[in-house]
Amino acid sequence: MHPHESAQYSNEVEAKLLDALKHPRVTALGEIGLDWFRNYAPREVQLQAFRRQLELAREYGLPFLLHCREAHEDCVQLIREVYGSDAEPVTPARMPIGVAHCFSGNAAQAAEFLELGLWVSWAGHLTFPKSDEMREAARATDLAYCLVETDAPFLAPVPHRGKRNEPAYVMETAAKLAELKGVSLEEVDRVTSANAKRLFRLD
Ligand SMILES: [Zn+2]
Repeated sequence: MHPHESAQYSNEVEAKLLDALKHPRVTALGEIGLDWFRNYAPREVQLQAFRRQLELAREYGLPFLLHCREAHEDCVQLIREVYGSDAEPVTPARMPIGVAHCFSGNAAQAAEFLELGLWVSWAGHLTFPKSDEMREAARATDLAYCLVETDAPFLAPVPHRGKRNEPAYVMETAAKLAELKGVSLEEVDRVTSANAKRLFRLD
């Protein structure tokens, strides 16, 4: 249950969630997290729903998709509390505990997520003129722990900015990431596709 709807989190919702989590084709839990930008749900309610769903992700051994907006410190703190000693730095051999979806923070924040065992997913706003801090974070983050995503219909990348986003436009985000990392588009395609398969256990 997304943070925007977390006021509706209840025992009944959780029972449905538990049923869904047992399905063999369910590969992740999310988006879950905290949104201190929109604040569509009260903070206390968002914190409770996020904590409970993190506990379920951990219990079921599923990666979580993190929605974190203007809430970096609180997300880090809750993930640390719930995962304890399982919140270990990423390594090539280790499965991530989750992925920071539509990451929009700075290099230090990306590094902090990697320290917790999270991967980082880049969306269309990586191409926006004002996203210098994000681009710096992308330069500093090892491609081995990166994904690209559409977040369609939102966040259409340049040169489609302002239009309805389409999955095909993820190419522009991948191209920007390739430019920032100094590698070919094919390399970004290969690594991020393999990462997505690994994260969602599609291999
Ligand atoms: Zn989101």
